[in-house]
Amino acid sequence: MSAVFVITGPSGVGKGTLIRELRELVPELELSTSATTRGRRAGEVDDVDYHFLERDEFDRRVAAGDFLEHATYSGNRYGTLRTEVEERNARGAPVVLEIELQGARQVRGTMPEAVQIFIAPPDPADLRRRLEGRGTDDPETIEARLAVAEEELAARDEFGHTVVNDEIDRAAAELAAIVRGELG
Ligand code: ADP
Ligand code: 5GP
Repeated sequence: MSAVFVITGPSGVGKGTLIRELRELVPELELSTSATTRGRRAGEVDDVDYHFLERDEFDRRVAAGDFLEHATYSGNRYGTLRTEVEERNARGAPVVLEIELQGARQVRGTMPEAVQIFIAPPDPADLRRRLEGRGTDDPETIEARLAVAEEELAARDEFGHTVVNDEIDRAAAELAAIVRGELG
């Protein structure tokens, strides 16, 4: 069984950005591609950024037991397919899951050995600035994500590690040190 890293944090905190940097610093780390029912953003590629599934296909795969964890977030379904982790475990490759809070809690229950890392903003107000700056979501979507963020921020103490994403390079280096420390 290889190492599993769970990275969680509110929308806009910079998870995707930090994971890109992390993978440059720790190239052997592989990123699980999640499944989702949300619409594709400009530039997103099916089976690269996500496995984009129709709602009924997602539900069918839930019923078939194909998911390690899954959750509804801001009106859409998201989940980690078991195959994403099992195939890497079989090869001994470390894997990182970028998932929201409910999913992180499920993984904590089923895979307590997974390393859980929470990414926090320097200030909660940065979330709005970053989501607006990213320019991928309409105002209604941003408000919905900020509403969920309050609950997510309150959960940071559940996580074994917290990294504050103040400066990308500094935060990515801290994240890489945590991962390297666990990989030994
Ligand atoms: P998430 O994956 O958590 O939703 P993203 O990685 O998409 O967040 O980052 C949201 C926005 O914030 C992006 O436009 C990104 O460039 C920007 N960003 C990420 N980290 C920082 C940082 N440390 N300081 C300022 N802006 C950042
Ligand atoms: P986004 O729509 O911005 O890509 O993702 C929205 C939220 O869903 C983020 O918090 C992201 O971490 C989370 N997410 C992405 N993939 C998964 C997954 O497989 N499972 C769970 N539980 N959450 C996910």
